[in-house]
This record gives sequence, C-alpha cells and structure tokens, in this order.
Amino acid sequence: MNIKSEQEMLEYGRGYAKRIVKPAVIELVGDVGAGKTTFVRGLAEGLGVKEQVTSPSFTISKSYALPDGGNLVHYDFYRLPEPGIMKDDLMESLRNPDNVVVIEWGESVAEILPDEHIRIEINYTEEGREIKE
Ligand code: ADP
Ligand code: MG
Repeated sequence: MNIKSEQEMLEYGRGYAKRIVKPAVIELVGDVGAGKTTFVRGLAEGLGVKEQVTSPSFTISKSYALPDGGNLVHYDFYRLPEPGIMKDDLMESLRNPDNVVVIEWGESVAEILPDEHIRIEINYTEEGREIKE
C-alpha cells in the first residue's frame, strides 16, 4: 500500500486500530524517518488514547492508558543495542493480555517477541512510503 503523506500515515494508523485484537504485538520495521512513530500516533488515536504520542527514542518506552483497559506501550530500541533491564520491562508489558505493544527497532529483543506477532514494514519510495504488512 502506498502512503503519500504524513496525514495518510495517520489515517492508516487510525484505521489499523480497528483491526487490533488484544493481546497485540506490532513490530515496526523501517529506516529513520520512515514514519513508524507517525503510524503509532494514528494507531493511538484510533485506539482512543487521549494523550499526545511522542517518540520514545530517549526514554525507550512510553505507555498510554487504553479506554477499555490495559495500555498502549510503545518502545524504541534504536539507541539500545543491548536492551538490559528494558528487556524485563518489555517482557512485563507482553505478559498483560490487555496491552497493545508496539516496538520500533526490535532486533535486539526479537527472541522475546511472540512468534505470531504482527510485522509492518515501511519503506521510502519516490511517491512517499510503501507499507508491507
Ligand atoms: P520514524 O519513527 O520511522 O523514525 P517518524 O514517524 O518519527 O519516523 O517521522 C516521519 C517523518 O516523515 C515525519 O516528519 C513526517 O512528517 C514525514 N513524512 C513525510 N511523508 C510521510 C509519509 N508518506 N508517511 C509518513 N511520514 C511522512
Ligand atoms: Mg520513531
């Protein structure tokens, strides 16, 4: 699917929220600036999160309450090739079946993600971004 603008990416995220069946684990794959965090902003809105979603790249993880219980937990392991204690934090988030867990740069924690997790790839193209689900 081709996504031509930031607005379209937000819309795609909002729409994706309707397809979420908890527990849900989504790994986002794509270069810096591809639109992973933009997707999460739309997803959060679609899931009914009231707070503003910002990139967790400095804090590694950010958590937002979901209206029907649980949290949207957003991780970004870009600056953390050795996840250390954040691995325990992620495992804890994965244990709650009411959570929706989204991970950017998940290579270093790949072995603790459930086998059946969702993987969404975002690639740059001349017209915008190409999504591969
Ligand atoms: P990532 O989390 O993958 O590093 P971000 O979502 O933080 O990326 O940033 C994507 C940037 O690219 C934003 O500044 C956004 O406005 C811009 N952008 C331009 N075109 C698109 C598009 N088609 N889809 C998503 N983002 C886009
Ligand atoms: Mg990001």
